[in-house]
Amino acid sequence: MKEKDKHHHFENEGQFQALKVNQGIEQPEPVNNDSVKRFLQKNRNLLPVTDYVEGILKGDITLLSKAVTLVESSNQKHQEIAQEIIKQCLPFSGNSIRIGITGVPGVGKSTFIEALGSFITKSGGKLAVLAIDPSSERTKGSILGDKTRMEELSGDKNAYIRPSPSAGSLGGVARKTRETIVLCEAAGFNHIFIETVGVGQSETAVHSMTDFFLLLMLAGAGDELQGIKRGIMEMADLIAINKADGNNIEKAQLAKIQYKNALHFFPEKESGWAPEVLTCSAAQKNGIDRIWSEIERYKELTTANHWFQTKRNEQAIYWMHETIQEQLKRNFYNNAEIKAMLEKLEKMVLEQKISSFSAAGALLDTFKNLK
Ligand code: GDP
Repeated sequence: MKEKDKHHHFENEGQFQALKVNQGIEQPEPVNNDSVKRFLQKNRNLLPVTDYVEGILKGDITLLSKAVTLVESSNQKHQEIAQEIIKQCLPFSGNSIRIGITGVPGVGKSTFIEALGSFITKSGGKLAVLAIDPSSERTKGSILGDKTRMEELSGDKNAYIRPSPSAGSLGGVARKTRETIVLCEAAGFNHIFIETVGVGQSETAVHSMTDFFLLLMLAGAGDELQGIKRGIMEMADLIAINKADGNNIEKAQLAKIQYKNALHFFPEKESGWAPEVLTCSAAQKNGIDRIWSEIERYKELTTANHWFQTKRNEQAIYWMHETIQEQLKRNFYNNAEIKAMLEKLEKMVLEQKISSFSAAGALLDTFKNLK
């Protein structure tokens, strides 16, 4: 064979070229409907319910996260799947201590969560950190539960950090967090932290889904300055005065005495628990073990006197009613007929043609008779 012929490949000949255009068959019209496209786009990654449930029960964080995303979604189909996942996870939930952590911005919540959280994971516990952030609705981005704020924990395989769901009313956000707790517990997280800013109503929501409520405070600032309402102090099972380090130690000790005295004026708790005031330095990880042993002591006492379970039962009923109210409201306000009628009746109320009560009555009657 000649040198040139050795390198000759017959497939390179013109008739074998890959880019030859063949006569095609007629294609159906592409799906051109935008809503169908959007639906397919959104549901492209959906799995069968059993895949999520089995993954969660195995402690698969990726599947847990995907399921939480469905819980947080406002899409009807996503909600249906989420509710089924929750239902199947429910028998595997509950084996945890749920701790609410609140305090004004800057008090050191994320630093504290890092300190107490890594203390827990180092002792063999598994921790999920969730958040209820009332401001995220406005800012469209959560300031809480942000991974960058908790570097140590976000690299910890025994910790799962999930920022606050951002869409919807406080009630809606709180319900989603409450449902996320179920999924996290089913995934084996036996410690749940729910973080919130102690300045609004969100701490009431957090209180209604946790076993233990921890209030972080600073020394040398009056309650008014810290924006903490009396009611929130009353809810606390423990007050921790943070930043008790450096020049601040003495001030923190003084604040501790003052808060202890203040707590005497609150009525005794139904749980039979007398809240303590402790000092700590989240930054230096001082006093964290003492706080943890206090939480353990609480669990022992309230398990023995059955308060722990009683409170959880009450919370379950509370959330049932919250969910009913939220759904009724949503169905009502999202109904097209009601929307149109509402607009007209609002005007009539303002023009004093009809009273608020009759207007409400008329709307509710219409709603009741809707098919
Ligand atoms: P958050 O807004 O409540 O989450 O507060 P951060 O955890 O972000 O803390 C606010 C600031 O306080 C940060 O600059 C922290 O470094 C600092 N900080 C937090 N805990 C302590 C502490 O125990 N001692 C001192 N000195 N500073 C702290």
